[in-house]
Amino acid sequence: MNSVFFRRLATLIVPVCLVSVFQTQVTQVQAQDKNAYSIVIHGGAGGDPGRWSAEYQQQRRESLGAALEVGIEMLEDGKSAIDVVEAVVRTMEDDPVFNAGRGCVLNEEGDHELDASIMDGATLRCGAVAAVTSAKHPVTLARKVMENTRHVLLMGSGADKFGKQIGVEQAPADWFVTDRKKASWKRWKAGQQDAMLHRPKNLGPGEEQLYLGTVGCVALDSQGNIAAATSTGGLMGKRWGRVGDSPIVGAGNYADNATCGVSGTGVGEEFIRIGVARDIAARMEYGGQSLEQAAAATVGKLPEDAGGVIAIDKHGNIATPFNTPGMSRAMANSSGLKSVALGREE
Ligand code: ASP
Repeated sequence: MNSVFFRRLATLIVPVCLVSVFQTQVTQVQAQDKNAYSIVIHGGAGGDPGRWSAEYQQQRRESLGAALEVGIEMLEDGKSAIDVVEAVVRTMEDDPVFNAGRGCVLNEEGDHELDASIMDGATLRCGAVAAVTSAKHPVTLARKVMENTRHVLLMGSGADKFGKQIGVEQAPADWFVTDRKKASWKRWKAGQQDAMLHRPKNLGPGEEQLYLGTVGCVALDSQGNIAAATSTGGLMGKRWGRVGDSPIVGAGNYADNATCGVSGTGVGEEFIRIGVARDIAARMEYGGQSLEQAAAATVGKLPEDAGGVIAIDKHGNIATPFNTPGMSRAMANSSGLKSVALGREE
């Protein structure tokens, strides 16, 4: 009875104190601005950027900055949010710094299985793929599911087959599996780390970064449309066939012009339990909460060190709460905001 009581008490208290507990960044853009846009991206939560080498921190910042520029250029050009989030996530899938596409983490058998999703807030149309192995850009395969099928989620060999049939660019296994990730998987295997831990304990400095790096992008375009996309290799050492939150609409990804767009990163099982992305939108829709309040309250329901989200509302406000030591992220808007950050201090 006590635990039920405390859980209920926590749901009442937590939203009130969250803003000071979690790293939350909010930026206002005038909704009525013509050609106003906002964009936010993440390159994974978890790990402590303070333990990373200066060189690696720089590398991550540069990769985030380059992906952000792709989005800014397209938004300034008047491109749609759905095109922007796909293009930005493709850029990050090509970058082995991140755990998506090339450079993904490996499952318990040392194989790659990729998850991705995309959602258009203008129509609520969405597409996702889980445990795919051959599409060079899983986010593009997810978009094809959205646009070329009556379904929302395809998985495994069926999704791979669909990608080949429809002409999505393919890549061999050694495109995805880099030497660095193979080496880190071997260390994971030798240590028999707990696959469900997002940030395995007892890693040496510079090692934990090899486990992290799911990517996501949320954008509001000049037409007022919101879109979100997320892509990942999942968790290092995950069980064969395991699917995380990234391709689960409403858990790791969501977009609705009426409320917000969200992309999550962290321990997928926790995000699925809470339905994180849709929970944030629902707080805004039914409870009238602001994006900042809603995102902080939902992230506050996650267990400690579980992850974070990036989110944009229909006014262009941006929120990036996380409960891990770091979440790689970058954001920009048409009012001149442009920033890249890794840890809590920024
Ligand atoms: N959420 C991803 C998953 O559980 C992992 C991550 O964000 O790092 O598959």
